[in-house]
Amino acid sequence: MLSKGLLTVRRNRLQQKLASGSELIRGSLAQTYLTCGTPGCRCHQGEKHGPYYILSWSESGKRKSAYVPEDKVSGVRRMVTNYQAAREALQELGDVNRQLLLGQYQSARSKGGRSGARP
Ligand SMILES: [Zn+2]
Repeated sequence: MLSKGLLTVRRNRLQQKLASGSELIRGSLAQTYLTCGTPGCRCHQGEKHGPYYILSWSESGKRKSAYVPEDKVSGVRRMVTNYQAAREALQELGDVNRQLLLGQYQSARSKGGRSGARP
């Protein structure tokens, strides 16, 4: 169990991760190769067209997707990663705040009080 001081430090660090909130995209980025409808095109011999980039996400229970223009791919990838990190940070922040609120941390004053076994 962490001390109150350590939890507070962790909370500050997590809040900093959340500060970049304008750069978040919820979804996942995937790469795909496609065949076209042109008869005799090389894509039917295994040289498929692509890569194409697809952003997919769920919206009211439905799976949705959209093509991402190649010049936007690196930006989208970064924002998708940011979102994952922010979501984890938010979850952790919620845990830290709960521990702080309920006093579920190791007090600096109670020496060696590792478990709550003593009366
Ligand atoms: Zn083709």
